[in-house]
Amino acid sequence: MTEISPLNADLHCHSVVSDGTLEPEALVERAHRNGVQMLALTDHDEIGGLAQAEAAATARGIRFVPGVEVSVTWGHQTIHVVGLRIDYRDPRLLEGLQRTRGGREQRAREIAAQLENAGIAGAYEGALQYVGNPDLISRSHFARYLVEIGACADVSQVFERYLVEGRPGYVAHRWARLGDAVRWIRDAGGDAVLAHPGRYKLSAGGLWSLMAEFAEAGGTGIEVVSGSHTPEQYRTFAQHAVDFGFRASRGSDFHDPKESRVDLGRLPPLPWSVVPIWHGWEDRSE
Ligand code: AMP
Ligand code: MN
Ligand code: MN
Ligand code: MN
Repeated sequence: MTEISPLNADLHCHSVVSDGTLEPEALVERAHRNGVQMLALTDHDEIGGLAQAEAAATARGIRFVPGVEVSVTWGHQTIHVVGLRIDYRDPRLLEGLQRTRGGREQRAREIAAQLENAGIAGAYEGALQYVGNPDLISRSHFARYLVEIGACADVSQVFERYLVEGRPGYVAHRWARLGDAVRWIRDAGGDAVLAHPGRYKLSAGGLWSLMAEFAEAGGTGIEVVSGSHTPEQYRTFAQHAVDFGFRASRGSDFHDPKESRVDLGRLPPLPWSVVPIWHGWEDRSE
């Protein structure tokens, strides 16, 4: 019997066009060095890096999957929905993403005002130094500034002490609705994938409701092997994928060589029990 090695697909990562630190081309180059065979760039609420990444990937023989990670408010929770294999010229998608990005500037000013009250001055300007796209100032940019000035040892410590609910620099925000995000992705011909489900602070019942509502809205996949999951969560979400009939995705959620726990293409393969999200995509060579 021939041993078939699993496809090295990495279907979740970020460039400077959102809150990553590498230019799209450098990101693709790194993925190539790490042996990635199929790559999706999934910047937050933004498709501005896709054309450049696609050209760089194609030149290196990597199968490129145009993607996006949409910020969603579901109840009182922020949820992320990854769109894969989207037509990133679809006007309905573009309009939806533009609307979703809309409140970030005002939110950033409020984050900075809160940090100022907590004794950290100049955070807005400080965060801006790290921003690659003026439309997309994010908490990650504030986190990098807080590390720079020595307020925290690293970015993960920032997300324990600041910028999260109950801490200075947390500003509640309304993102897109779940049904809208899924619809924009589907209108653009893509697959909607529930990102890093293990990261949400939900009860078992809450998680079940989220997956049920996501499926009902037209979501077709969930991330099983993710840079945000533990190996135990790979098993849990593989089982949920089977139970709900979702196809499974694999993505590092890479942002930066030093910050990110998992590098591009370096996650374990998907468990054999699940159907990969790329199964059924027309260019099948795996
Ligand atoms: P925003 O969209 O502005 O709310 O920023 C969300 C981003 O912050 C996420 O996409 C992550 O990149 C980053 N983030 C959130 N929580 C953490 C955490 N605990 N550790 C590291 N990065 C985090
Ligand atoms: Mn991010
Ligand atoms: Mn996310
Ligand atoms: Mn992400």
